[in-house]
Amino acid sequence: MRPAFKKTLRPIIRKGQVIEINYHGTATEIDDPDGNIYELLELLDGSRSISEIANHLNLPIEDIEDAIIFLNELHYIEDTSVPKTYSPTELDRYQANLNYFSGYANLDVSRFSFQDKLKDAKIAILGLGGGSLAAAYLAGLGVGEIVGLDYDKVERTNLNRQFLYNEDDIGRLKSEVAEEKIKKINPEISVKMYNQKVGSYEDLLDILDGADAVINALDQPAIISARWVNAACVKLGIPFYRGGINNQSIMWERINPLNQEPCYDCKILYSLESDHETVYRLESGYGKTFSGVNTGFAPNLSILIGLFISDIVNLITGAAPLFKPNITVDTILMNTLQSENEKPDRHPDCPTCSNQFNEMASIEHLKQIVFGKGALQ
Ligand SMILES: [Zn+2]
Repeated sequence: MRPAFKKTLRPIIRKGQVIEINYHGTATEIDDPDGNIYELLELLDGSRSISEIANHLNLPIEDIEDAIIFLNELHYIEDTSVPKTYSPTELDRYQANLNYFSGYANLDVSRFSFQDKLKDAKIAILGLGGGSLAAAYLAGLGVGEIVGLDYDKVERTNLNRQFLYNEDDIGRLKSEVAEEKIKKINPEISVKMYNQKVGSYEDLLDILDGADAVINALDQPAIISARWVNAACVKLGIPFYRGGINNQSIMWERINPLNQEPCYDCKILYSLESDHETVYRLESGYGKTFSGVNTGFAPNLSILIGLFISDIVNLITGAAPLFKPNITVDTILMNTLQSENEKPDRHPDCPTCSNQFNEMASIEHLKQIVFGKGALQ
């Protein structure tokens, strides 16, 4: 083991007999009247053993070990050994990731252990329109297996926000182009693309099987496509992400069936209960396709995809804490809001997640659960 003071915490700020270290936005001051800690941190660059440092400082090895234990508890120290499983190409490719993970590493948890989890992960992206940005992010990060699905062809109207595609790709299948481009971004990962139209939750079961997380970028047909993804993910026990954008806000949520959290159908039921006018919105849009009206222009789409991917990295690696599961970003004030009406528990009558799931309930069935049969006549 080669303990080192983290490079990302340098420079060490010296203020007379005190040193200041900034870690995750918090400045900590450590008394250092004789300058030994400063010198120790300078020597702890990963090139020296503990005994070499002790000799250099003319201090007992035990003192150096005690100091390292103290610094390790503060997450200031990590092991700089490089696992043999990492090639020089990977060390270059994942340098920024490893620097990021360094923030969560210590002598017991290597920054490489987080990257290993990404390499072992499988993420599915349903819809390679806006979802194509997510595919590029995941490929760059080194997620080991990326699964994608779309049945559209690249059009010129896509090119101002779906940056995986360019003029030369117009008229080609998105699934085909995405596979080529992702492999060019990172040839070391596995890619499986489906050129397929989804018409039920059953269509998704084989495609999503074994995924660690799903990004739902299918927005059409309205509502029912989210219910298909929800049903498949509940059945398979996979967390999924969905979101939406309008001119002044970006909505994002993570639905995780593994945590007994409300599923998308629970949310529909709660919404019908709390606001009876939800039924009109459901009836106006349910199952319909609205093309060419997406207001998610590139900057806001990038924020949404960034939120998805940042959360997915932490979900997969356990590095940083997860975001709250439901966030709306106000793009004018640039602050985040959480829905006050959000229920933390599953709806007790949800036919999708509260009992053994057999088949997806119709929207009429969901309405009956809330209003009873009579209310529908
Ligand atoms: Zn549910």
